[in-house]
Amino acid sequence: MTQSKKNIAIIGSGLVGSLLAIYLKRYGHQITVFDRRPDIRHIEFSGRSINLAMSNRGWNALRAVGIEEEIKKIAIPLDKRAMHVVGKPEYYQKYGKEGEAIWSISRGVLNKRMIDLAEKNGVDFRFEEKVWDINLPEAKVYTGETEKGEWTEYPFDLVFGCDGAFSRVRHKMQRRSRFDYSQDFIDVGYKELTIPANADGTHKLDKHSFHIWPRGKFMFIAMPNLDGSFTCTLFMPFEGEVSFESIKTKQDAIHFFTTHFPNVKNDIENLTEDFFKNPTSAMVTMKCYPWTYWDKVALVGDSAHAVVPFYGQGMNAGFEDIFVLDQIMQQYGDDWQSIFEAYQEQRKPNADAIAELSYRNFMEMSSKTADPKFLLQKKIEKHFSSKHPDKWIPAYSRVTFSQRPYAEALAAGDAQEEIMRKVMQYPDIEHLWDSDGVERLILELLS
Ligand SMILES: Cc1cc2nc3c(=O)[nH]c(=O)nc-3n(C[C@H](O)[C@H](O)[C@H](O)COP(=O)(O)OP(=O)(O)OC[C@H]3O[C@@H](n4cnc5c(N)ncnc54)[C@H](O)[C@@H]3O)c2cc1C
Repeated sequence: MTQSKKNIAIIGSGLVGSLLAIYLKRYGHQITVFDRRPDIRHIEFSGRSINLAMSNRGWNALRAVGIEEEIKKIAIPLDKRAMHVVGKPEYYQKYGKEGEAIWSISRGVLNKRMIDLAEKNGVDFRFEEKVWDINLPEAKVYTGETEKGEWTEYPFDLVFGCDGAFSRVRHKMQRRSRFDYSQDFIDVGYKELTIPANADGTHKLDKHSFHIWPRGKFMFIAMPNLDGSFTCTLFMPFEGEVSFESIKTKQDAIHFFTTHFPNVKNDIENLTEDFFKNPTSAMVTMKCYPWTYWDKVALVGDSAHAVVPFYGQGMNAGFEDIFVLDQIMQQYGDDWQSIFEAYQEQRKPNADAIAELSYRNFMEMSSKTADPKFLLQKKIEKHFSSKHPDKWIPAYSRVTFSQRPYAEALAAGDAQEEIMRKVMQYPDIEHLWDSDGVERLILELLS
């Protein structure tokens, strides 16, 4: 299906904005991308920064525009979790079936590559140009140095808001009547640290694993970079007995790592300096609706749905938005009103589902991993799933290794939970968890 050429603005040159530019350019549209930041390609940058896990949905969206293989060259496949649990030697948990993996990729390196690819295809980028306002019905964009200063007006046919969780485009839509909006911060923050490469450039830990040091209310994770280093993230409550607030001095930081992460402490680069130099960042779930305005403006990616990162799906969900939008564009041609309506109707329930799944994963990690009943339930599920892989697909696999809707993964997870609620009431379940009786009960409940 072809479309008449339009003059389109994309606000935000992040991962979602730059991929959307590549998609839209294929239809022959004129594309201008605005970003308030300088061009990331010209910033002094070590290549470490934030790491993301790319999974099937992300790859699927990249494959459709022929860039999957090129991006895979800058990513590292992780086929398992490496668990660093107190009192146990390190052990591994395979993520899925043979050949299934999530991929560690540096956000900065990926973003640079995507901007390059978009520019090669003829997309115009306007960096260091902040958008302050949008005239929604007329698709006009206003940029300038300051909010109160002089602004430049740009007329467009269509505007896409890909300007992240604190979107200015959405902010303008919020002032309309009947616009739903909610934002919920969790009481846990995160801080990034680094494990550098060995002197010979090799990785200090297994480089095909997602490393996790779970400690109940807090945890430490590490993902590999191409240069041999690992980007690590400490997730911990902002306040409380063990919290960011409670670590005030270099001595406190050393004491904390010595107590809770003795095996990895000495590998962390400049621990005491970086701990205080690097910011402690917050995490938010943001929901809103509608995502579009007439046939003029649409939100895509984090500007429409920001989720907490405990399923590693924020970017994947944003990329899937684009893939779905593209399919709808092929169906409706120049009818942008119908395109936008179908897009938001199809994506909203799925965005809500991944928000819920991500939040539940956070709750599981932070409060349930110490609960013996919960651990027993997980053990039973795993045992049954390994015996009947076609009958019990774990929610993680549905989200990470399939392209079926997130809403379906949530519903299937709820149905499994209901079954497990009954299974956990089986007499003497603590001892009979792997018995034929329990297996038969699950099969019965499934049918
Ligand atoms: C700790 C953490 C870990 C994560 N891990 C994963 C993971 O493993 N896997 C995964 O899939 N996702 C993960 N995510 C989520 C992922 O980072 C986001 O979903 C993704 O970056 C969203 O991309 P975006 O392009 O929509 O928004 P952003 O990346 O926020 O980009 C928005 C862009 O808009 C620009 N902008 C903003 N306002 C304006 C304005 N007024 N004018 C002009 N430009 C503007 C910004 O400068 C920026 O370049 C994680 C997030 C966090 C915080």
